[in-house]
Amino acid sequence: MNSLDLDVAIIGAGPSGLLAAVEVARHGHSCAVFEEHPNVGEPDHCAGLLSTSGLKSLRLRPPKDVIQNYVSGARIYSPSGQSILIERGKREAFAVDRRKFDLWLAEKAQDAGAEVLTQHRVEGIKSSGKNSVRVHLRNGDGRFGKTAIVAINAEGSRCVVSRKAGLPTVKKQSFRVAYQFEVKNAEIEDDSVEMFYGRKYAPGFFVWLIPIGDNRARVGLAARDKAKTRLQAAIRHHPILKQRLRKSQTERGFGGAVLVGMPIPRTYADGIMITGDAAGLVKPTTGGGVILGGTAARMAGSTAAETIMENDSSERVTRLYEKRWKSLLLSELRTMYLAQRLISGLGDKGLDSVIGDAYRYGLVDIVEREGDMDMQQRTITRLMRDPRMFAVGLKAIRYLNPFL
Ligand SMILES: Cc1cc2nc3c(=O)[nH]c(=O)nc-3n(C[C@H](O)[C@H](O)[C@H](O)COP(=O)(O)OP(=O)(O)OC[C@H]3O[C@@H](n4cnc5c(N)ncnc54)[C@H](O)[C@@H]3O)c2cc1C
Repeated sequence: MNSLDLDVAIIGAGPSGLLAAVEVARHGHSCAVFEEHPNVGEPDHCAGLLSTSGLKSLRLRPPKDVIQNYVSGARIYSPSGQSILIERGKREAFAVDRRKFDLWLAEKAQDAGAEVLTQHRVEGIKSSGKNSVRVHLRNGDGRFGKTAIVAINAEGSRCVVSRKAGLPTVKKQSFRVAYQFEVKNAEIEDDSVEMFYGRKYAPGFFVWLIPIGDNRARVGLAARDKAKTRLQAAIRHHPILKQRLRKSQTERGFGGAVLVGMPIPRTYADGIMITGDAAGLVKPTTGGGVILGGTAARMAGSTAAETIMENDSSERVTRLYEKRWKSLLLSELRTMYLAQRLISGLGDKGLDSVIGDAYRYGLVDIVEREGDMDMQQRTITRLMRDPRMFAVGLKAIRYLNPFL
């Protein structure tokens, strides 16, 4: 291992960092994941809804104790309470316990040969000459440094390490604040997620209600501001939601940041790759980032292995990582971003019009037949091209532009 401390340094033991570690270790290279918190998976902030197809594509089969529930459909409510049910008749998604999920991924990384070091905060990274990156760390014993051939930054959306290193960070406009309650004794169907649109409660986003088994649920929303207050108002006043939760008791509340923008403009530098939420690699329609971020993270891991094989961690090789994730995900992300902008620009009347008409014109069939929770581009494009959608869109567009 020449004068270096390790081959690959990974910042952050979230799903992206851990999946990158699995990939690096699988190739037989030494790798350490540095996590600032005392326990992997804590504090958690996620709703934990992961598609079965996405997990399969990541070659992940979570064990029983990680999976809380299976979901086969989604009911979407317009602001006035009209609803469409997208029912796919199979196990479309898992609701997972994110703390246990992340811990399970950490075990996978360790089994593959990676080290996962908690209570190790990365204070900075700096490319320090050919094939070497210096990682500045702090733990209970003080400050010290480690040198690696290449670093993968998977620090999540705060982007503190990237900012300090002068690397691109997620745009402020991409952030929405989110808040959730975990409740028991909810009156819900155990196999369907519910999504409630409407400016009154969640402007520009939606309220989600995810059954996690035994009449327990995660109910949450994201918004530009006041997420917790808005959520409390929705639970108290939304005509349908308040019915669902009228006998429920809150077990805990927790918040976080959801991203709804496009990825950062550059995800590589000499000796460094940026992945997961830190690179803005999430679905802009829902803020979900475990599957797509994890997909890119795996590519970062295999590209890191390549830098070692080629004895070159300069941009010449790290740029291949960006080329790879872009070829698979960029147009998907662009389409979802556009759809998210359209939905948040429509207003309540527009959403009522689209949701009501989509049902009437039979467009829900397309989503049921072709929908994919992660790779949404095909369905969005198919909907946009359908002549029936033209009629729906023409009506709804009045609510986008008041001068039409
Ligand atoms: C309310 C809410 C609900 C969500 N629901 C879903 C959902 O249902 N499905 C879905 O797919 N996604 C969901 N997401 C998004 C999902 O949580 C993220 O996309 C995902 O966690 C990103 O993984 P990551 O590994 O890139 O980052 P993170 O999970 O944020 O992990 C980053 C890790 O890096 C560590 N770290 C940060 N800085 C340092 C440092 N300097 N040194 C050492 N360690 C550091 C952090 O402690 C953390 O453990 C949700 C998000 C929120 C906020």
